[in-house]
Amino acid sequence: MTTKLDILAVGAHPDDVELCVGGTLALEARKGRRIGILHLTSGEAGTRGSAEQRRSEAERAAEILGAAHVEFLDFGDGAFRTGEAEEEALIECLRRLRPELVLSPTPADRHPDHARAHALVRDAAFYAGLARRGMGEPYRPAAVFSYMQHHHFEPSFLVDVSETWDTKIEAIEAYESQLYTPGGDNEGPQTKISTPEFRASIDGRGAHFGLLINVGFAEPFWSPTPLAVADPMWLLPGGIR
Ligand SMILES: [Zn+2]
Repeated sequence: MTTKLDILAVGAHPDDVELCVGGTLALEARKGRRIGILHLTSGEAGTRGSAEQRRSEAERAAEILGAAHVEFLDFGDGAFRTGEAEEEALIECLRRLRPELVLSPTPADRHPDHARAHALVRDAAFYAGLARRGMGEPYRPAAVFSYMQHHHFEPSFLVDVSETWDTKIEAIEAYESQLYTPGGDNEGPQTKISTPEFRASIDGRGAHFGLLINVGFAEPFWSPTPLAVADPMWLLPGGIR
């Protein structure tokens, strides 16, 4: 039986999670928290690299971030399916892995797979808590927060990931087939994600959100509900002291 997770980060495609929450996951793993990564597809519709290659890259990236668990589902990259069968598969995962916190794709995005994946994760997290839905012991994660992809939202909170930014970049660079890597072969058809400009934009976005809270790099999150805090002093710049 799989040991209970603290955090499960769910992505529509391999590399989504690393790009958006790699710093946060590495930070939490360093604190001893049990991190899981669930890729809802193997990225088989991607322009560069085979699904098999992306799977092994995803496993390597998870290892770099310090994840305790990595798993793949097959919901159809580029024609992302969301129906009862996909909900059931996700409910089974949530009941088996029992994460306290789920990190989900963005609510609205240029890539239809991302917004569909958001709705699927949100719904499955709710249904997983209902006794009359599906097999297994009912379990509902305490919260589902969204990370930022192409579409910008007003963040509910920012996580200072300055100390794990290098680890995040290392995890992203594990996806050799997808991204521009300085010194890499960079062969194959060019996609937006494979350009040096995209690579620079990762640092740019992290630095932009970092600047808003006076740190080097930060990752933005959105919560659908107001956030409860036991002590407002935790919300002072610099966070918990
Ligand atoms: Zn994606």
